[in-house]
Amino acid sequence: MNLTLIRAVLKARRKGLLHLSPATEATRLDCLADACVKCCLNLGAPRVSEDEALRIDPAALTRTKAGCFVKSKGTACCLLDAGLCSIYARRPRGCIEYPWYNIGGRLYYDQGCPGIKHDRDERPNVADIQPFEHFFPGMPRVVVRLIRVLCTRR
Ligand code: SF4
Ligand code: SF4
Repeated sequence: MNLTLIRAVLKARRKGLLHLSPATEATRLDCLADACVKCCLNLGAPRVSEDEALRIDPAALTRTKAGCFVKSKGTACCLLDAGLCSIYARRPRGCIEYPWYNIGGRLYYDQGCPGIKHDRDERPNVADIQPFEHFFPGMPRVVVRLIRVLCTRR
């Protein structure tokens, strides 16, 4: 089991992130980018697909039996450079999709993201967002379910 991922989730929760709420009303992201970077600083090591890995410096990646991830420095992604993503155009899917999540086919957003606004409806199609389970490759289903319960707890 990937304890690093579990520790990352718990730390993110303590920092106010991964407080996921169903996106049942008009919601949009107005990202504060380098004035914020709360996600890149606190969500740690994003998962990387094999295709994505080909476009990222191998020295920035770590491989486990379960999958490939960007290395982190503490809870911060190692590709964050002076407050900016150093591979912005090639960033992994999870980074592009944040703060949206697909939990059991239902759209959620992270209430901890300061860029969330409710003045306009710009919710993505949930079918375009990868399932929550993809963030936890190789982890027992029961553990992923517990993480899901924790992250959606009100
Ligand atoms: S936490 Fe939200 S507002 Fe801040 S950089 Fe990430 S996506 Fe943008
Ligand atoms: S790859 Fe870029 S966007 Fe993704 S967490 Fe790292 S710095 Fe942030």
